[in-house]
Amino acid sequence: MTKILVTGGAGYIGSHACKALAAAGYTPVTFDNLCTGWQDAVQFGPFEQGDLLDRPRLDEVFKKHQPVAVMHFAALSQVGESMIDPGKYWRNNVSGSLNLIEAAAAAGCLNIVFSSTCATYGDQDNVVLDENSAQYPVNSYGASKRAIEDILENFEASHGVKSVIFRYFNVAGADPDAQVGEFHQPETHLIPLMLDAIDGKRAALTIFGTDYDTPDGTCIRDYVHVCDLVDAHVLGIKWLEDNKGSRVFNLGTGNGFSVREVVDNSRSVTNRDVPIVEGERRPGDCTRLVSGSSRAVTELGWAPTRSDMATMIADAWRWHQNGHFDR
Ligand code: UDP
Repeated sequence: MTKILVTGGAGYIGSHACKALAAAGYTPVTFDNLCTGWQDAVQFGPFEQGDLLDRPRLDEVFKKHQPVAVMHFAALSQVGESMIDPGKYWRNNVSGSLNLIEAAAAAGCLNIVFSSTCATYGDQDNVVLDENSAQYPVNSYGASKRAIEDILENFEASHGVKSVIFRYFNVAGADPDAQVGEFHQPETHLIPLMLDAIDGKRAALTIFGTDYDTPDGTCIRDYVHVCDLVDAHVLGIKWLEDNKGSRVFNLGTGNGFSVREVVDNSRSVTNRDVPIVEGERRPGDCTRLVSGSSRAVTELGWAPTRSDMATMIADAWRWHQNGHFDR
């Protein structure tokens, strides 16, 4: 069967992508150093442990599996940490990706699906963020992802590497079968932290800033279900098979939810109280990030089915109650 190399396949989004690829008839080969991923999440194809900074190991894996494409998820992705330790982000995300892209080009694997982020756009209040919007990242995480987009563009011109770049908005939810789900250590994301607060694993959810220029004072984000998101990636592989060149797609729903609105939705979905504390702003956070594009829908035929807030929280809650928390 056709193999796809999935970097970060042991992580949250990568493991869901492996499940979707296997369902679509591909063999996902996970390449992961397990620094934030989990080996028990690798359930849908072979596992190759390795680090993107280790070029000989990458060459070995390309030679062994001969993948037709790469889905590149492996990255550090905490906005707050990236502000404290930018070098870690540039080394792991940018140098690691450069190694991967060079290894792929050397192996003749010229199709790359790359997970980028809406954090590359930065703080552009009240602007519709479509794929042509200017990119002014305000944190090192977003800056590192924008740099990788530039590398891909250069390698298309020089080596014929074609890419589909997905700029994610906020990814949420979990596999409805609860085979895989979100589990970061430490956790920094809103919805899993909120679910922890709901079932007493932590005392309260801290809302980071209540003085933003938004209707209720808290930050606004556009949340997209992880299963819908990875479905777009499978369509991205098909796009690369069928098209010349490269393309950027936003993956969001166009619907913005404030932190308080996410909390309110969680109360009604779980029928439980959410203990909250109002705290300071988190450095690097943008006020509002909402996708204004339907390009993925019109050009890829992307049809999200689970990205309404209630379904995302219900799926995350199911995983939260049944997932592998013995890790
Ligand atoms: N957030 C919060 N408390 C938390 C974690 C996150 O208020 O404990 C807020 C954060 O400031 C942002 C939104 O929730 O406005 C989403 O943050 P998350 O870290 O989930 O994703 P990001 O937008 O940073 O990619």
